[in-house]
Amino acid sequence: MFSSVMKYNGNDAEAGRILDSFLPDRIFDAHCHLLDTSLIPTLAGEGERVVLGAEKYREEMSPLLRFPRELRMNAISYPDAAMRERKSGLIEKSDAFLLGELEKDETLVGEIVVHPDEKEEDIEKRLVDPRIRGLKCYHNLSNVSDTWQASIGDYLPRSAWEVANAKRMVITQHMVRDGALSDPDNLEYIRETAKSYPYATLILAHCARAFASWTAVESAERVKDLPNVWFDFSAVCESPAMIQILNKVGVERCMWGSDYPVCRARGKCISLGNSFYWIYQKDLDAFSSKTRMSDHLIGTENLMAVRQAFLICGINEDGIERFFYGNAKSLFDGE
Ligand SMILES: [Zn+2]
Repeated sequence: MFSSVMKYNGNDAEAGRILDSFLPDRIFDAHCHLLDTSLIPTLAGEGERVVLGAEKYREEMSPLLRFPRELRMNAISYPDAAMRERKSGLIEKSDAFLLGELEKDETLVGEIVVHPDEKEEDIEKRLVDPRIRGLKCYHNLSNVSDTWQASIGDYLPRSAWEVANAKRMVITQHMVRDGALSDPDNLEYIRETAKSYPYATLILAHCARAFASWTAVESAERVKDLPNVWFDFSAVCESPAMIQILNKVGVERCMWGSDYPVCRARGKCISLGNSFYWIYQKDLDAFSSKTRMSDHLIGTENLMAVRQAFLICGINEDGIERFFYGNAKSLFDGE
């Protein structure tokens, strides 16, 4: 799934020149994954070992983010379905990898994966570095048969909220179910927990997983009154959900994320009907068109969609700086 190289083409380079005058001097990537595929069973079987650490990130993302700029990252441990088997030790291995990265780069902060069965004390004893600032939950660790339809409570335990609230940490949550934030079950859960745990910050990843734009367009306003519900705009490749969130909630609770290494792939995630679809290289290879057709890396698509959203919403330089850097800095540094 993750190749050993991130390959830019001429279209990415052209977009990069446009992005150069849009991106601010400092960037804090609020949602990226650093990983070693050999520690992740689902990825390990897919061929050669790929190690994507902070240093590799800086090197690979440089053409897209136009370094030298000040760059910081929130490295989120990669959740793998095999972690569901708690005794596998895979969560401990991913913690160790993250700690190694934190040690190598003092500007990094990170998030550890929480297992739905963990008690507060289980989570607390894994918080061995103050730069572990967040908890990551994912549907593939839940115990339900179709995890794509899991309720948030199936994969995000109350214990995680208790810990995050007590320690003023963040929870990054990529929700599932077809309606995402517009799903009544998801929305009710978010409203109830955000109010019950006001010192924890819930980050709704991928514009509240608005890969199908309508889901956030229809619902973003419903979390406007919850100051501890934030959004990251990672991996979304279309503007409508971004525009709605910026208009209804405000740039103050929004952050940019690359979703590295997802952004390394060529293609785009598109709204399709009332669902969504990830166009990857295999699809691009099958496309044919009478007019010129180009393609971008997902990372380029995302940044171009963000730029369009900011242009449409008329967000000024100060707002752009907050979105790409200031909001994440104050959230993750606890200022
Ligand atoms: Zn992610």
